[in-house]
Formats: sequence, structure tokens, C-alpha cells
Amino acid sequence: EAKRQGRGMVRVFDESMDESIRFRRQIEGGLSGAIAKGELRLVYQPIVARDRLEVIGFEALVRWCSPEYGMVSPAMFIPIAEESNLIHELGDWVIDEAVKTLQTWPGQYVSVNFSPRQFRRHNFVGHVVERVTSAGVSPKRFQIEITETAIFDDVERAAETLFKLRQMGFRIALDDFGTGYSSLYNIRRFALDCLKIDRSFVDGMARERESAAIVHSIIHLGRALGMEVVAEGVETISQLQSLRLAGCSHLQGYYLARPMDAEAALTLAHAGFLADADAASEPQASS
Ligand code: C2E
Ligand code: MG
Ligand code: MG
Ligand code: MG
Repeated sequence: EAKRQGRGMVRVFDESMDESIRFRRQIEGGLSGAIAKGELRLVYQPIVARDRLEVIGFEALVRWCSPEYGMVSPAMFIPIAEESNLIHELGDWVIDEAVKTLQTWPGQYVSVNFSPRQFRRHNFVGHVVERVTSAGVSPKRFQIEITETAIFDDVERAAETLFKLRQMGFRIALDDFGTGYSSLYNIRRFALDCLKIDRSFVDGMARERESAAIVHSIIHLGRALGMEVVAEGVETISQLQSLRLAGCSHLQGYYLARPMDAEAALTLAHAGFLADADAASEPQASS
């Protein structure tokens, strides 16, 4: 009896496996045509400086508007692209598009996400340099966002890549910081401009002393090492205020601004500051 039930369960499990594999294949197939068919878009989320909410950069985030599946989240399709060579084609499209948009802004940088496989690609440095500089863009306005996973399984090689990129003038940010396996020893060795505090810590700040303590530690670490610190996922005014008090230099999140299309980003880039957040009008003791 139990055996039969067990077999039944196995079968159900297998079917759902088939189902998910089929779905993956469909997404993979759809995605490979998506670039050529112009179904990818970039949206841009402002990164602002703490005091006057000056817009100093935008993070580029990819969207897939599929006629078949609707809006597909990058959280869904990037991991699938990452498992095939599609990630390179997709990544190149993202670089080109981000660089094109960047050229319309008066001075902000664009921050582009790179998955581990892109970062470990043969001659990654030469590849990115070529794409960015051939468009006439200064690497100083191009920030490369990587995660801890991208760098910590081959620390020596990653250190060399980051050093070269830094030498060329690129900005480097460590994304989702605190969720991976960075050791402080290696953080010190790497050439980094920016630490992005993962939004799970920002989210937990008000509820848990532990999250608040981690946020404070990252801010201090970043400052002590001369890095910019960006808090991701700022969703409420109280988070904004706590982060300001804690000395966090830069902020990003829905409370400040949602990711927006290139046209809206251009308007905001020219305005230069976020006008709307309540806290923006708060008098600053230091100024
Ligand atoms: P990420 O790089 O950590 O990007 C931040 C994510 O948090 C974005 O999700 C953004 O829309 C979202 N977010 C921003 N503010 C808030 C907030 O206040 N609350 C909440 N709950 N979420 C917020 P998105 O656009 O869905 O991207 C998900 C992930 O997909 C990114 O995480 C990044 O790892 C990856 N990704 C996005 N675009 C690209 C790309 O062009 N290339 C690569 N390789 N990966 C990308
Ligand atoms: Mg990112
Ligand atoms: Mg992040
Ligand atoms: Mg993330």
C-alpha cells in the first residue's frame, strides 16, 4: 500500500519536473528570439545621495515584454539565460542599450548588472571596454554591478579582473552585499567603489536588532574603506530616516522612485533631484 502510494508520489513529482523543464525550454526558446524581435526593455531606477536626494545614477534593469507570456521578471529569465550562452547576447544588448540612454543624461552614471557567468567570460575586461568606449562613453559613468558569487569562487582571477576594470576607470559595485560569502579579507583586496546593502537587511531594520546591526556595520565598513554605500529597497519614510541617521550615503528604493522608462529617466536626470519624497524638504543640520 505504502509502496504504491510512494510510486504515485514519485510519478506526480516526475510530471511536475517535466512540466518545469518544458517551461524552462519554452522560456529559453522565447528568450533567444526576444532580442531580435525587440521584446527587451531597460527600465532605470534612480540612485540618490542622502542629503538632498540628488540623482547621481540610475540602475538599469532589464524587462522582457513577451507577447506570449506577458511581462517576464528578470528574476525568472536571467537564471535561465545564465545557464546557456544566451546570457552573453542578452548582456551585450543591455550594455549597448544602457550606454545609449546614458549619453542623453547630463552627468549621472548608469549601473549595469552582470551575472557571474558574464563576469567570468574570457576577456571580460576587453569586451566591456570595447563596447563602452567605442560608443564614446567614459568608463567613469559606467558602473559594473556584480554579486559576491561572481567573485568568490576564484578570488585571484576576480581580483585581477576588478583591478584592470578599475584601472580603465570603471566603477565597481558589489550588489546584494551581505547575502553571499565575502570575507572581509577579500573585500579589502578588491578594488570596489560601492557596496549595495541587500534589501532584506533594509527590510528587517525596523523589526530586528540583528538586521539593524548588520546595516550599521556595512555602512561603517564601507565608509572606513572609502566606498560609497547604497541601501537597496528603501520602501518607507522610516527606513529612509533610519538610514540617513545611520550615515548611509546613498539610497535606492520604491519609496524614492520606482524603476522608470528611459523617457522618464531623462526628465529626472535633467531635474537632477527627487522632488517628491517628503523627507527631501527636511532641513539638514550640516548645510
Ligand atoms: P538587483 O540587481 O538586486 O536589482 C534590484 C531589484 O530590486 C530590482 O528587481 C528592483 O526593481 C527591485 N527593487 C528596487 N527597489 C525596491 C524596493 O523598494 N522594494 C522591493 N521589494 N524591490 C525593489 P528586478 O528589476 O525584478 O530585478 C531582479 C534582479 O534581476 C536584479 O536584482 C538583478 O540581479 C537581475 N537583473 C536585472 N536586470 C539585469 C540585467 O540587465 N542583467 C543581469 N545579469 N541581471 C539583471
Ligand atoms: Mg543590481
Ligand atoms: Mg541588489
Ligand atoms: Mg538581487
